Amino acid sequence: MSGESTSRIAASENAAPVATLKSPRELEIMREAGRIVAFAVRKAFDALQQGITTRELDDIARQAIESEGAKPGFLGLYGFPATACISINEEIVHGIPGDRVVKSGDLVTMDCGAIVDGYNSDHAVTYVAGSSTREKDDLVNTTRESLEMGIKAARPGNRVGDISNAIESHVLPMSFELVREYVGHGIGKDLHEPPQIPNFGPAGHGLELRAGLVLAIEPMVNAGGWKTRILDDGWTVVTEDDALSCHFEHTVAITEDGPVVLTVE
Ligand code: MG
Ligand code: MG
Repeated sequence: MSGESTSRIAASENAAPVATLKSPRELEIMREAGRIVAFAVRKAFDALQQGITTRELDDIARQAIESEGAKPGFLGLYGFPATACISINEEIVHGIPGDRVVKSGDLVTMDCGAIVDGYNSDHAVTYVAGSSTREKDDLVNTTRESLEMGIKAARPGNRVGDISNAIESHVLPMSFELVREYVGHGIGKDLHEPPQIPNFGPAGHGLELRAGLVLAIEPMVNAGGWKTRILDDGWTVVTEDDALSCHFEHTVAITEDGPVVLTVE
């Protein structure tokens, strides 16, 4: 799940939000939450094929999380009704699983979270179901690579803007656009903690990164323009021009030795 650029956290608290640093023990728990959500997303995508419904994919993810003794992180959060956000084609984020049947060529994003001992993980992956096209492959590869660039910049001494700029610098030369209204975020006991991590902007600005910060870095890349709108269901965010959109996300711990991706099996 992605944070809104007008943070619900900031809006709901009187005091200015402060980024929290996690202890080695907390990082260990978050590593487990990350492992489990990576497992759940992989299990769901192992079943991705033409004809499966998004509800069936969601059920697989929920069962995988629960089989590992964790809890779905998104279910009920802000009222979200499912384990995963599943967003197809022009849908960017926060798609609600249901009766929709996946077709060959669909660009399918699953964004999912797991909770272990009160700590969250957040992870998103996009695949093309069945046969792809050059344009879809370029969009998927560029988005995944931009996440890798952002992760490389997540090291002590850098600033949030260095992550943002690393992502932007990889995406814009490909003639794709980055979503601006939804952003990455700190993560821990809350799914969405400070700081916000925009996927655009100048290097050298924003909060200085320190060991112990845990960030959900999540480029959302559109094949058309950057603008978005929300469907009548109140959740699903789509591209304003109905162009395709792609999303990858990892939960990343910043350590003295550099970034460590937590959302891997
Ligand atoms: Mg997410
Ligand atoms: Mg997120």
